[in-house]
Amino acid sequence: MSILSNHFPECLPPPEALSPQEREAYEAAHAAVAVAPEPRRPARPRPQRSVRLLSRSNGLYELPAAALVQIDMVSTGPRIGTRTDSFRYSVLPIRSDVGGRAFEVTRQDTGDNYHVLLHGRESTCECKGFLRHGHCKHVDGLQTLVSRGKL
Ligand SMILES: [Zn+2]
Repeated sequence: MSILSNHFPECLPPPEALSPQEREAYEAAHAAVAVAPEPRRPARPRPQRSVRLLSRSNGLYELPAAALVQIDMVSTGPRIGTRTDSFRYSVLPIRSDVGGRAFEVTRQDTGDNYHVLLHGRESTCECKGFLRHGHCKHVDGLQTLVSRGKL
């Protein structure tokens, strides 16, 4: 039985004690044990987002104005080419009890609706994206419109 069939590599003599053939086998065996690093998938480019105010109703008395907002996400990738996903929301300013500005955002095609608070680092949204990543297109999009004086 060859010494190389031993299942306990730590029992093997040091490579210097082996014949050239055995040494080659030893090194091949050990090279195979070395774990090749996982090939890193190239980072997928983040979608380019843009947001625009489509329309805005006039506020009635003390009620704040509602707005219609579109967020476009432009993704590029080898399989999809360039794809634009557009999301339209009606945006209703609501009262915030904790400072900052709050909005009820309703996606027009699905009716999904989220409460968004813009309050600097305390900003939040109820969508899955925000819960998972701590940021989302709703917070970022509305913040952009607010900073442009559009909301
Ligand atoms: Zn969100």
